[in-house]
Amino acid sequence: MRVPMIAGNWKMNKTVAEAVAFVKQVKDQLPPASQQETALAAPTLALVPMVSAAAGSPLKVMAENCYYKDSGAFTGETSPRALYAAGIHHVILGHSERRNYFHETDELINKKVKAALANDLCPIVCCDDTMGRRIAYDQKIHWVVNRILADVKDLSEDEVEKVTIAYEPNWAIGTGQSADPDQAEEGCYLIRQTISDMYGSKVANNIRILYGGSVTTKNVGALMAQPDIDGALVGVASLDPKTFLQIVNH
Ligand code: PEP
Repeated sequence: MRVPMIAGNWKMNKTVAEAVAFVKQVKDQLPPASQQETALAAPTLALVPMVSAAAGSPLKVMAENCYYKDSGAFTGETSPRALYAAGIHHVILGHSERRNYFHETDELINKKVKAALANDLCPIVCCDDTMGRRIAYDQKIHWVVNRILADVKDLSEDEVEKVTIAYEPNWAIGTGQSADPDQAEEGCYLIRQTISDMYGSKVANNIRILYGGSVTTKNVGALMAQPDIDGALVGVASLDPKTFLQIVNH
């Protein structure tokens, strides 16, 4: 049985004080983790204070990125080993903003996924999708399939089951124009089929796949009713505590 997940992604928003106040406001109104996981990805500075504020609640605090080395001369990077030691057990990898603004490649993301897993972090791997690229890719193989083949390759069965994948069409992120439930299901189904081809149907049935892109209180129910959509990665709508709680408890 796949446990659904609602994960907020704050991006580069909120001060430490604002982040802690948010956690205190929502932490007692969340479903039990056995029923649905709730997570918030926050800027690095806020992570440790948020873990303290969330103690004893089902809320999981996530990093928005990490590097693929545990330590060393990598100025400005965040170590997956240090994240785990600080009580952060989830990390978003390969968000389209990392790919587009910071030029992260599939090769780099695959290294980060492996490093995260080696440190017992659960990666939320984002798989973007643009219609333009889909057409440009010579129609040989779908853009999404290529992403998945490259980003989560060469993992053990145990490892891949710890991965959550988020299908996030670029045109839907931060635009207010969500994919409709059928479009979102199509992307998530394609990802599950690709995982099945890579790791077999048992793993594919167990892996959690989220949809992300302009999820709101209004569309979350219809999106999550789709057979291959196990939850949502929520950007803008996760910034307000009341709205986030409505999405979580939809
Ligand atoms: C995101 O950034 O992952 C995202 C889905 O953002 P939004 O919900 O604002 O579209």
